[in-house]
Amino acid sequence: MKAIQVKQAGGPEAMELVDLPIPQPKPDQAVVKLAASGVNFVDVYFREGRYKAPLPLVLGQEGAGVVTAVGAEVKSVKPGDRVAWAGLLGSYAEYAAMPAHRLVPIPQGVTEQQAAAAMLQGMTAHYLSHDTYPLKRGETALVHAAAGGVGLLLVQMAHNIGARVIGTVSTEEKAQLARAAGADEVMLYTQSDFEAETKRLTSGEGVDVVYDSVGKTTFEKGLNVLRPRRMMVLFGGSSGAVPPFDLIVLSQKGSLYMTRPTLVNYVATREELLARSSAVFGMIAAGNLKLRIQHTYPLAQAQQAHRDLEGRKTTGKLLLIP
Ligand code: NDP
Repeated sequence: MKAIQVKQAGGPEAMELVDLPIPQPKPDQAVVKLAASGVNFVDVYFREGRYKAPLPLVLGQEGAGVVTAVGAEVKSVKPGDRVAWAGLLGSYAEYAAMPAHRLVPIPQGVTEQQAAAAMLQGMTAHYLSHDTYPLKRGETALVHAAAGGVGLLLVQMAHNIGARVIGTVSTEEKAQLARAAGADEVMLYTQSDFEAETKRLTSGEGVDVVYDSVGKTTFEKGLNVLRPRRMMVLFGGSSGAVPPFDLIVLSQKGSLYMTRPTLVNYVATREELLARSSAVFGMIAAGNLKLRIQHTYPLAQAQQAHRDLEGRKTTGKLLLIP
C-alpha cells in the first residue's frame, strides 16, 4: 500500500511516498481502508519535528474509511463499518491499523470525505466554543485565521450560539468566506491593526474570548482586546510559538484567564469522543455546519498540500485521497 512517510524531520520535501505492507490488526486494533485523510496544521509540526514521535513515521492524524479487518478483542466495530478518527498518527496512507476504541461510526447522511474533514477541526471548534470558553448568546468572540480549517467551523458554531463574531484573515477573498460563515465583522490583520480595530468595533469594551491559533504574531495584542476577567484561548501557533510568558501580565491586563488546550484532553474518554463526534456529525446532517472541502489532493501530492497550507493559500479543509 502507498503511504506518506517521514524518515527525517524537515520541510515538505521530508515527506516521501513509500510502499509499505498492508497492516495486520493487533488484538485491539481495526484495519481501515481510507477514503480520505485530513490534512491539519498539526501534521506540519510533526513533519518539522516541533512535535516529537519516533521516526520513521507515517504522517497524518485524521481519516475516514471502511473497516477491512479487526483484532481478536475488538467488539466495537466489524468489517464493513464506516468509521472515522482524529488524533491518531498514521493516517496519510491507503490502509491504517488503529485502536478500535478510538474509532467512531459515521452516521447515515454523512459521507466518508465529510467525516474525514470534520473530525479533527470540527471537534476542535466544538470543544473551544462549548467547553473551553462556553460562549453565550450576546457575547463577543475574536477568532483569528477565521477562514482556515478550524476557523470557518468555529465561526459557524459561535454564530449559531448567538455570539457576535469578529474575525481576522489575510486576504479579501478569505474575508468573504468568513463573513459567509457568519462572522459579523472581519478585518485583514495583515493590513490593519487588529487591536485598534477590535477596540473600535467594541466601543472600547473588548471581547469576551480570543480564540488564537496564530500564536507568535497575534498573542500579545490579543491580550489587550479582552474585557477584564475574560479568556485568552491559545490553541495553536501557525505563525510560530509564543515566547515564554510572565503570568503577572494577566493581572495587569484585567485578571485575565488563559488556557492552552488541546483536542486530546477533550475527547479523552470513549463517551466524550462519541458525544463530541456525534454532536459535530449532527450539525452537519442537520445543515447547521457547512464543511468547505475545497482542496483535495491525491495522496502522492502531500508535499504540495503542506506547501499550500503553510503558504496561507488554503481556506477550509484539505483532504488527501489515497
Ligand atoms: P488553517 O487552515 O487555519 O491554516 C493556518 C492559517 O493560519 C492560515 O491559513 C493563515 O490564515 C493563518 N496564519 C497566520 N499566520 C500564518 C503564518 N505565518 N504561516 C501560516 N499560516 C498563518 O489550519 P488548521 O485549521 O489546520 O489549524 C489552525 C490552527 O489550529 C493551527 O495552529 C493548529 O495547530 C491549531 N489546532 C489546534 C488544535 C488544538 O486542539 N489545540 C486542534 C486543531 C488545530 P490567514 O492567511 O487568514 O492569516
